[in-house]
Amino acid sequence: MKIYNITGYLIIFSYMLACMYSAPAHLGPWTGMLIGGVYFIFCWFLGGLYLADVLHLGIAHRSLDYKEWFIKVVTVVNNSFGLYVDPIAWVNRHRLHHKHSDHPGDPNKLSGDGFWRTLYLCVMPYQCNDNLAGDEILKSRTFRVAANPVFAILSQAFSFYLSWKLVGDLKFVLVMWVGIRIFALWVNMVQNYWTHTRDFGYRRYNDEDDNAMNIGEWLPVTATFSAYLQNNHHHYPGLLRLSHDKSEYDFGFVTVKLMKYFGLVKATRTGTELPKDVPLGALDF
Ligand SMILES: [Zn+2]
Repeated sequence: MKIYNITGYLIIFSYMLACMYSAPAHLGPWTGMLIGGVYFIFCWFLGGLYLADVLHLGIAHRSLDYKEWFIKVVTVVNNSFGLYVDPIAWVNRHRLHHKHSDHPGDPNKLSGDGFWRTLYLCVMPYQCNDNLAGDEILKSRTFRVAANPVFAILSQAFSFYLSWKLVGDLKFVLVMWVGIRIFALWVNMVQNYWTHTRDFGYRRYNDEDDNAMNIGEWLPVTATFSAYLQNNHHHYPGLLRLSHDKSEYDFGFVTVKLMKYFGLVKATRTGTELPKDVPLGALDF
């Protein structure tokens, strides 16, 4: 088993165990594990929807056209009750990452950066040397508020307090709160380190001067809503799906199709342009 899978499963297993052991007596270990699991799935799913589906494909690459109210609801709910990520800074960093992939100017990682350096950069990325996030929606009040550091601190403090009051035990809430953030850091490392290091995964396209790799196993693809298929994505960043072959498992695409079914999203012209060398007969969207 690959090191990123071992680490991922180990984090999930330790989180569950820690929830069982720290659960207060009035809940007991099994209810404690159940509550921990629900909180974990809530944060993971909402975070994936917000980052991979909405911010990434909806705003940063404009491959998908979401209902504006839906974008704003997901942004506010995720940043209030889930894991906070500044939307404007994220879109800017992501566009710079595509423009300079693995080279100076990429805020995520330079080609020579190793595991620990990239881990540090997940928390303290390189300074952005350009502003590529001038989109109208990012100038809206909702996004300006969500990107404000005061909102970040207050919303995270409020969500912590709310969870504490709901389960009635400080230690238990701390375990869940810190645990899900360790998992989020692993997700970040999958994307910034393991799929941007040539030692892992495979490359479908070889003409780019970057280290973007495809990793296709169940856990990383599910955890990141398919953001593990980086080589595909860096080759055609505008395409609305990251899998370029029917054999590639694509959880993120399933969630987008589900939102399309509910009328929350449609494709943009950029998103549906299927290049000839992508081995998909049809986009299937
Ligand atoms: Zn991208």
